[in-house]
Amino acid sequence: MLHSPRTPARIARRYVALGLALLAGCSASPRATSECWTQVQTAALPVPRAIAWNAIADLPIAAQATSEPVLLPASDVAYRIRTTGCVQIDSLYDALGHAWVTPPATLADYDLYCKSCPQRVSLGVQSGLYVLPSSDPQPPSTTGLFLRAARRDCGTLLPSSSPGQVRIEVSQRTRPSDGQPGIVQAEIVITQGSIFFDHPDALPPAVEQAIAIVNSWLAPGWLSLRVVRARRLTSEDPLRIERGEHSALVRLHSAMHACDPDGRSPDDTWVPIVLAGCLSVANTITQRKSEPEGLTPGIPSGLPGEGAAHGVYIKGRGCDASSPMIDWTAESLARVLGHELGHYLGVYHSVEIDGGADALDDTQGDDLMHARPSSIADPRFTAGQLRVMRQHPALMWQ
Ligand SMILES: [Zn+2]
Repeated sequence: MLHSPRTPARIARRYVALGLALLAGCSASPRATSECWTQVQTAALPVPRAIAWNAIADLPIAAQATSEPVLLPASDVAYRIRTTGCVQIDSLYDALGHAWVTPPATLADYDLYCKSCPQRVSLGVQSGLYVLPSSDPQPPSTTGLFLRAARRDCGTLLPSSSPGQVRIEVSQRTRPSDGQPGIVQAEIVITQGSIFFDHPDALPPAVEQAIAIVNSWLAPGWLSLRVVRARRLTSEDPLRIERGEHSALVRLHSAMHACDPDGRSPDDTWVPIVLAGCLSVANTITQRKSEPEGLTPGIPSGLPGEGAAHGVYIKGRGCDASSPMIDWTAESLARVLGHELGHYLGVYHSVEIDGGADALDDTQGDDLMHARPSSIADPRFTAGQLRVMRQHPALMWQ
């Protein structure tokens, strides 16, 4: 799916309307901070953040089974479940029996997310992040929730046929007040498959403009995207992943952070935004391959355990060797970036390709989280989508 190009005049009008203030997070004269990254934020960087995870339980799970229930706090927290292979929440109930997540009801629930669950949760590949509630109606408030975890076969997404172990972790997250500004910090990686790779600026103007446009869409939710640093990286291209198999993304993470201390990002909460070449996603069940314009490894994504990938990945060319690079306009790049950032922060498609709707009350499909964001007349996030996004534990509150 290709975005329809926007005219330069239209982009210019929009860009002027947005105002230069939106660009305040990006510097015109970047300064180098390491051998491979260029800092692009003019303001002094906040102290790098490490998110603390409390291990609540290490639980064995028999083949084809679910874990014993674990009592977890219910409000102002994020859950993380780690395993070898793939993981999902099987069920989540409060003490009065109110269902947040119900066990799979049909085969359709054995997919990348549970479709019939009152609160949607998505499959974790090695590591799953869960920030709830994700759907309307909001469940009744409670102090505790009983969670059962399930291991899934990463190839079929069905219950794992081998026994294993899961680690269930909880992290406290800040509850912002209404109107409190929240910042998503990002690091941008541009690979050789992107048209921006050879541009002399650390952040090419079209990328800066796309970020400004995304910020105009985030502003009604008092959110903004701020790029901390950027780098070029020669990497695997095509970037081939399968549903449930992200090893190419994990290798890309290792490569992008190879020059950082300890080989990892200095801050747990920075979102890697990768302007890649070809993105190829294989479905081992249907044997079909797709070349999405963007992908995010989980909904929400972020704060993974060791050996798991996160981030936002954007296509730069088709996978056919003769495919030209995509000459992104700022507006079309912004639509893909805004859409994928919505997934990263916890928002599902408002309308799926098959016409299926999401579980938020105020979405009609005429928003950025339509499965085809290029088809929307007036791109925006709804209030419900922005409310979900404001729960993500990677946000920095001002
Ligand atoms: Zn999407």
